Amino acid sequence: VPTVILTIGMAGSGKTTFLQRLNSHLRTQKHVPYVLNLDPAVNKLPFGANIDIRDTIDYKQVMKDYTLGPNGAILTSLNLFTTKFDQVLEFVDKRAAELDYVIVDTPGQIEIFTWSASGAIITDSLAATYPTVLAYIIDTPRTAGPATFMSNMLYACSILYKTKLPFILVFNKTDVTPHDFAVEWMSDFEAFQRALMQDTSYMSSLMNSMSLVLDEFYENLNYCGLSAVTGAGFDDFMAQVAKARDEYYAEYKPELDRVI
Ligand code: GDP
Ligand code: MG
Repeated sequence: VPTVILTIGMAGSGKTTFLQRLNSHLRTQKHVPYVLNLDPAVNKLPFGANIDIRDTIDYKQVMKDYTLGPNGAILTSLNLFTTKFDQVLEFVDKRAAELDYVIVDTPGQIEIFTWSASGAIITDSLAATYPTVLAYIIDTPRTAGPATFMSNMLYACSILYKTKLPFILVFNKTDVTPHDFAVEWMSDFEAFQRALMQDTSYMSSLMNSMSLVLDEFYENLNYCGLSAVTGAGFDDFMAQVAKARDEYYAEYKPELDRVI
């Protein structure tokens, strides 16, 4: 059975670049993946997709037909595509025996996928059949301040508790900024508190209480640092995927079977 890797993350965090690198990394290891693009608004896809939302849905036309702005049109396109997602699953199913990985790119704006009914339907229907893991891509250079780090972690935390799927925090762009600071802050609560205290621009007492919540979150989670541009760190990422796949079978799948 193939493992599904769903890529999510803020706009510009590097999801598409990450998927391109992951695709070529897996190919060199003779694990040719099945590739799904769910971003209707991407101009040029830097990898070949087996299934591309743009083949069936013209996002610019959706904007005109429904007189929508860009985000509304992306969401509507995703909704239209989701009505046919059973066909996508059939395509994947036909190839499943020979596949090790299905990798999925999602729309630039994270909330369109993670907080929409369509995103939930797509995620749940994949996770009902295949071991599915979420790769949460983080723009490391833009998350290096304690306040932005914390809000990014709280966002990740809320998605983890919503989907309950195994989760990998992927600190991307380590060619620009290494993710050591993040490792330190996640493993040493007091180091993070010290960094927070030096940041006077936020309500630090609120931040202090919230950082206690995060301490528990970090225990339930796998992380790694990599660069989608240079390719550094992808072996470690694949090791995290193997761990997350085990978690799917140990925690998510039994719960799913119990509910069904
Ligand atoms: P998406 O919106 O999440 O799909 O992000 P993209 O993949 O389109 O990347 C956004 C920008 O970040 C582009 O200019 C990329 O070239 C850049 N980028 C992505 N990954 C890396 C990385 O590992 N290192 C560096 N330096 N830039 C990156
Ligand atoms: Mg993208």
